[in-house]
Amino acid sequence: MAKIFCVANQKGGVGKTTTTVNLSAGLAKVGQRVLMVDLDPQGNATMGSGVDKRRLELSVYDVLLESASIAEAKVRSERLVAAGCAYDVLGANRDLAGAEVELVNQERRERRLKEALASVTGDYDFVLIDCPPSLSMLTLNGLCAAHGVIVPMQCEYFALEGLSDLVNTIKQVHANLNKDLEIIGLLRVMFDPRITLQQQVSDQLKAHFGEKVFDTVIPRNVRLAEAPSYGLPGVAFDPSARGSHAFVDFAHEMVTRLGGMRPAVPHVA
Ligand code: ADP
Ligand code: MG
Repeated sequence: MAKIFCVANQKGGVGKTTTTVNLSAGLAKVGQRVLMVDLDPQGNATMGSGVDKRRLELSVYDVLLESASIAEAKVRSERLVAAGCAYDVLGANRDLAGAEVELVNQERRERRLKEALASVTGDYDFVLIDCPPSLSMLTLNGLCAAHGVIVPMQCEYFALEGLSDLVNTIKQVHANLNKDLEIIGLLRVMFDPRITLQQQVSDQLKAHFGEKVFDTVIPRNVRLAEAPSYGLPGVAFDPSARGSHAFVDFAHEMVTRLGGMRPAVPHVA
């Protein structure tokens, strides 16, 4: 049975999509079966996984509106297969922006993704969901479907403040919609150890959240930022980059934290 995780943070530009595609590729690289679900109408995670959002015949939109199953709508990039870190993609494009309105009067609207995932959960070890930067019906679908939330964050001055909103939202979803939901961990991303403030915020995070802060730290690394323009996760685009190594380390940490998963195969650089 797959473990299902949302990558969420109400702020934009904090590294959600970068985390989703690179963790997907990293997990695939260490032998895990992965489905990546793009819940952002911008479709960046789709494009960044080697899938052209403009050519999708079926997408997560069709799944949410119950006109297609995940088995019918999922796709896989040949380029990721060639790079040895392939995962399935339930893609998104601008159609998804309309789903919010179309779902508004429908029953069980926040549970559509959860119900759709039920039929494929035996096929994967991990399902990773890239959320948009808002608490919309789309994010709610992600949070309802998930066992846990991975929160990427930059160690900046306002980071902790933004976090309290997210923590409250997750508490509400936990109380009202999804008893399984918990924060799996906070992932420090775009980290630059030379910046004293980042070190300080990182220390504060550990003091506040203890074990919930992942050991792995993702450095600021230009190769991770360049990779999307080549339509690949950094892990596939430049496996030797520092940022790519960090995401493979993170994949190992996830597998280890969860225990009892299919064993990760050793990473050969
Ligand atoms: P979000 O999905 O939260 O909006 P993105 O993952 O799209 O955030 O990241 C925002 C920007 O930061 C993108 O241009 C991305 O390439 C860049 N970026 C993300 N992580 C890193 C990193 N570790 N090093 C350098 N650039 C990064
Ligand atoms: Mg994004």
